[in-house]
Parts: sequence; structure tokens; C-alpha cells
Amino acid sequence: MAFIIDGKKISNEIKDELKEKVAEYKQAGKEITLAVIQVGHDPASTVYVGNKKKACEYIGIHSLAYELEETVTQQELLDLIQSLNKRDDVNGILVQLPLPKHIDEDLVIQTISPEKDVDGFHPQSVGALSIGQEGFVSCTPAGIIQLLKRSNIEIAGKECVVIGRSNIVGKPISLLLLRENGTVTICHSRTKDLKEVTRRADILVVAIGKPKFITKEYVKEGAVVIDVGIHRNENNKLCGDVDFEDVEPVVSAITPVPGGVGPMTIAMLMYNCVNAVK
Ligand code: NAD
Repeated sequence: MAFIIDGKKISNEIKDELKEKVAEYKQAGKEITLAVIQVGHDPASTVYVGNKKKACEYIGIHSLAYELEETVTQQELLDLIQSLNKRDDVNGILVQLPLPKHIDEDLVIQTISPEKDVDGFHPQSVGALSIGQEGFVSCTPAGIIQLLKRSNIEIAGKECVVIGRSNIVGKPISLLLLRENGTVTICHSRTKDLKEVTRRADILVVAIGKPKFITKEYVKEGAVVIDVGIHRNENNKLCGDVDFEDVEPVVSAITPVPGGVGPMTIAMLMYNCVNAVK
């Protein structure tokens, strides 16, 4: 039986640690504020923004909500970000993605001051990560490292295989595993003989975006499997990129979906907000 890596429990531990830190800051007269901008009324985005606000409340971070109409111009959004960049009382700025088609997402991300880039998407944050300098690390990959470390899973010297090379998951998690001294291989849609590569993995991170794609034929016995995927099946039940029932019996540890990587993203966003005070 595999060890089930409990993302819910670990994320709660992190949030409780942060709550204490925020209370200390408050005693020293320091308030932390996160500005959250949502454009339009996409239901999924509304749920994500709501969860972020709830986490802020729990930890003691003040959140400022900006709910802009779908028709807002790009310039109006950029002006708002620039005004928040200048405010000393705002520590972090988050623009909920995706944005409507008439707005250039890259330009919006680049407009957020790197000192307030709590999502870690700014090119300066990504560059800092790739050359080992300090900066915000994007939340989902940072959460995966916490899951491994807090489950006492050694990364140094391990064969780490990442499936997926997206800017928000695949690339940053590869850099983070490298920073932790893993031997990292990145697979993607043009990888030849995926199974042959993934079966070498001691730690397999799956961010492929295809429900239950990874079956036991893709994993080495005793490997650690981290499933980043989130999908809703026809019965409205959540599942990941890994076929959990098939893979769990042959691995040493695995994250479930839900309750694995998912809860870590918000916990690490809160971590970045608290660290933005520095
Ligand atoms: P994406 O679609 O941007 O990237 C998928 C990657 O998989 C691509 O780089 C592609 O090259 C690779 N790929 C596709 N088919 C492949 C194949 N047959 N063989 C090998 N590689 C292949 O997805 P993403 O944004 O990185 O997200 C991946 C999954 O993680 C999605 O299910 C997404 O919903 C989920 N996700 C979860 C969280 C979280 O908080 N838990 C955060 C972000 C993304």
C-alpha cells in the first residue's frame, strides 16, 4: 500500500504557521494586504478568487477585491495595477487568469511590480528562479516541493521526471527539482517513448492535462508520483492525470485528487504574500 501524501493536511499546517507569523507582524504594527483583481464573471475564476479571499481571512491577511467588468479596457486594467504598484500599503497583487481576449495577459503580468508578484509569473521572478536568485516562486510548483519535503521524501540525487513543460507547472517544477539537486528530465508532447522515460523516475511529476493518462505501465515499482492534473468526469467527480486506482498499488507514495497538489496552491500563495512583506 502506498503512502498517500495528504495535501489538505500539509496545506493546513502551512496556513497555521503563516497565521502565527502574521499575528507576530501585527503585533509589530505591520499589516499585510493582497490586492485581487478579477475581470468578468467566469464562474471558475469566481470560485478561485473566493477561496483566495477565504484563505486571506483565515491567516489574517487583508484582501482588497477589484471586480472589473468584462468590458474594461486594457489600459484601465494596467492603470489600476500601476496605482497598486505605487501603494505602500499593498504588499501583493494578483490578477486572476484567464483574462478576456482583448487584454494581453503577458503585458498585464509584466506590469505587476516584481516585488508584489505573489503569483510568481513575472519574467523577472521566472528568471530569478532559473539562475538561483531570490524571488517569488509560482505557487503550484512551490507547493509540490513542500509536499515532498514535509513527507520526508529525499529529492537530492533522485531521478526526477516531469511530464509537461507549461510555464505555470512543468518548467518551474523542473527548475525547483534541479535546485533541490534532483536529476531532472522533462517530457512533453514530442517525447518519443514516454513510458521508457517515465519508468526511470524515482519521482514522477505529472502535469499533462489528460484525465487518468498515467497507468501502472508508466511507473517504476516504488516510485513517488505527484499528480498535478485536475479534471471533472461525467459524474462531476474530480480526477487527476494519473489513474490512481491502477497506479497506487505499485508505488511507494502518491498524491490523491482531490486533496493532493490542489490545496497547496493557495497555501503557497499565502506564503508568498507573507514573504512579500520583506
Ligand atoms: P498545459 O496544457 O499547459 O500543458 C500540458 C503539457 O503536457 C504540455 O507541455 C504538453 O507538451 C504535455 N503533453 C501533452 N500531451 C502529452 C503526451 N502525450 N506526452 C507527453 N507530454 C504531453 O497544462 P498545465 O497548465 O501545465 O496543467 C496541467 C494539468 O495540471 C491540468 O490538468 C491543469 O488543470 C492542472 N493544474 C493544476 C493546478 C493545481 O493547483 N493543482 C495548477 C495548474 C494546473
